[in-house]
Amino acid sequence: MRIDKMLANLGYGSRKEVKKLLKDGAVLVNEKPVKDSKHHVDPENDVVTLNGEVIEYKEFIYLMMNKPPGVISATEDQRDETVVDLLEMEDLVFSPFPVGRLDKDTEGLLLLTNDGQLSHRLLSPKKHVPKTYFAVIDGEVTEEDVIAFREGVTLDDGYVTKPGELQILKSGIRSDIELTITEGKFHQVKRMFEAVGKRVTYLKRISMGPLKLDETLELGEYRELTDEEVQMLM
Ligand code: URA
Repeated sequence: MRIDKMLANLGYGSRKEVKKLLKDGAVLVNEKPVKDSKHHVDPENDVVTLNGEVIEYKEFIYLMMNKPPGVISATEDQRDETVVDLLEMEDLVFSPFPVGRLDKDTEGLLLLTNDGQLSHRLLSPKKHVPKTYFAVIDGEVTEEDVIAFREGVTLDDGYVTKPGELQILKSGIRSDIELTITEGKFHQVKRMFEAVGKRVTYLKRISMGPLKLDETLELGEYRELTDEEVQMLM
């Protein structure tokens, strides 16, 4: 890969700005200054430094966000703030997009990446990737609901859901639950509870496949996945 392309892709400036950095001798490849912007580097094996700092090349970025309520799971929106608006410039150069959607008022685990294949795999209905939600329900969630969700409930459009695993954490006039589903129909969790005559008043995704929400992330915060987390998803 050309050195100017590599640095520009990583967000170190336009091709023109990168050319100037090279000309100024700010870039070393394997400890030798490289001034020619056409110079080819092997991002895996060559050690590239810019002003003495080692540059790590990567093609893909994998971010875990604790999505706050009030923002849209999209890359852009005419009216509302999006999850991509919450990202730092240095991550935006990779053009990450959210893997699937959470409702505007839903919080919790959202993966953002520019790895289209991974996104496709995680969202493919054929893969049945489990997603677990914590929810607060207006109403008493009962063992009958647990059985109904296990057997599948009929949504307002007549669709019968695949088995969902409902766990009651606290039952009362207000109940806390965890629900694991393997599909991602529009407003699915809310509509499953509607199907049993109850209303979701708070919803948070806590896991997606093997990936768990890092509870140290405040709402709106995000971090890169660790190498281990990326491996788990592959
Ligand atoms: N189910 C919902 O109803 N909303 C979400 O955001 C995610 C799952």
